[in-house]
Amino acid sequence: MFAFSGLHDAPNAAVSPGLVPGGLLTLVERPRPRYTKQNMRILVVEDEKRIADFLSRGLESERYAVDVAHAGLPALDLIHHTDYDLVILDLGLPDIDGIAVLEKIRNRRTSPPVMILSARDSVDDRVKGLELGADDYLVKPFAFVELVARVRVLLRRGQPTPERLQVGDLTLDCIRRKVTRSGENIELAPKEFSILEYLMRNRGRPLSRTMIVEHVWDMDYDGLTNIVDVYIRHLRTKVDDPFPARMIHTVRGIGYMLEASEKPNDQR
Ligand code: CA
Repeated sequence: MFAFSGLHDAPNAAVSPGLVPGGLLTLVERPRPRYTKQNMRILVVEDEKRIADFLSRGLESERYAVDVAHAGLPALDLIHHTDYDLVILDLGLPDIDGIAVLEKIRNRRTSPPVMILSARDSVDDRVKGLELGADDYLVKPFAFVELVARVRVLLRRGQPTPERLQVGDLTLDCIRRKVTRSGENIELAPKEFSILEYLMRNRGRPLSRTMIVEHVWDMDYDGLTNIVDVYIRHLRTKVDDPFPARMIHTVRGIGYMLEASEKPNDQR
């Protein structure tokens, strides 16, 4: 995965942290935020200081409260004393392995979602991490926009999932698997339905092609990300084209987002 993100790619971001393939960090300084997003608190466990700084500044610019631990044992100590909404966990730590940290987190009575962040990209490591209860796995180097998109989805998990979704004049009935817009029935193929449901459940949140593939196809295969574009095209033909306002938006550098449009808009 190519790992550069720019300001123009990051909606709502006043900072443009980028991690380029060579490992250089670029970060635009800005004042620290004075308030946090719904009081969501994230723990970043990362021994490499510049990555930890890059993550905490980037996430704070997204208005999350962020703590950093540079090793596994201090991380466990923090988790013991603080209720985190999410832990972002590096695997290669100086004291104990990230996998051991994950196991200890999972042995707790209540444990926050965990996103593994690792340079280990072998299928074995990934499977092991997910089997041990990690909720997501992002391979370094990564694009910050991809990380933030995944963070947003992880943080909204656990909230009740309605059986009927509505965004603007678009409704989706998850039980009867029916979609209507402005009262008109829309016939969708099963994968189209699943993608639309995922977009609607995360309305207003950019979702990357990889996230859509992992969610809808239940597998991780880079070669499939192009197929997302094909399905989005089909979806737009049915959900957007017959209507004056577009709802499926392209988010440059990430993927797609569904949002109700206030006014007709020909731009995609
Ligand atoms: Ca490390």
